[in-house]
Amino acid sequence: MRIYSCHFCSAPVYPSKGITFVRNDAKEFRFCRSKCHKNFKMKRNPRKLKWTKAFRKAAGKEMVVDTTLTFSARRHIPTRYSRDLVAKTLNAMQRVEEIRRRRERVFYRNRMSGNKERQRAADRKLVEENQHLLPPSQRTIPSGLQKETVDTDGMEVDEEMLSEEEEEKVAVKVPRKKQRTEQRMDVD
Ligand SMILES: [Zn+2]
Repeated sequence: MRIYSCHFCSAPVYPSKGITFVRNDAKEFRFCRSKCHKNFKMKRNPRKLKWTKAFRKAAGKEMVVDTTLTFSARRHIPTRYSRDLVAKTLNAMQRVEEIRRRRERVFYRNRMSGNKERQRAADRKLVEENQHLLPPSQRTIPSGLQKETVDTDGMEVDEEMLSEEEEEKVAVKVPRKKQRTEQRMDVD
């Protein structure tokens, strides 16, 4: 018995669950639940709905390129039944699943790393920009100079950020080029 994946959200469709729509040209569309079926009938694009796998993959929220994901893909080479092969495959399935889980954990950790710092920086900026909302005793900039200084500060911060970003880009680009040239040299 085969577990299909939902045409809309890519969730597994277990036997006796969901609904199958067969189009005029005999193409099958399997849906895990009525939600997906309804959304399909409304001609919505799964890539634009945040709860689908298609969106999460398109938005870089999940691992897309990985060898563990292609393991269960259907192959066009027919295999003859053999007991050993089945046993081997079952072992491999478990092992691949373990590896995939670990890689996904690493991917998630990398994706979420630096979130705290970014949030803190955003909070600091918010406080700096809205000094007039704070009680005078808690302001870091004196109220008389506030407007001018805040404006200029904001400009300075923006410029600094921009220049830093540019510098980073340059810094990233330069070693890559160097590496490429080195590789070429090696090849030559
Ligand atoms: Zn679904």
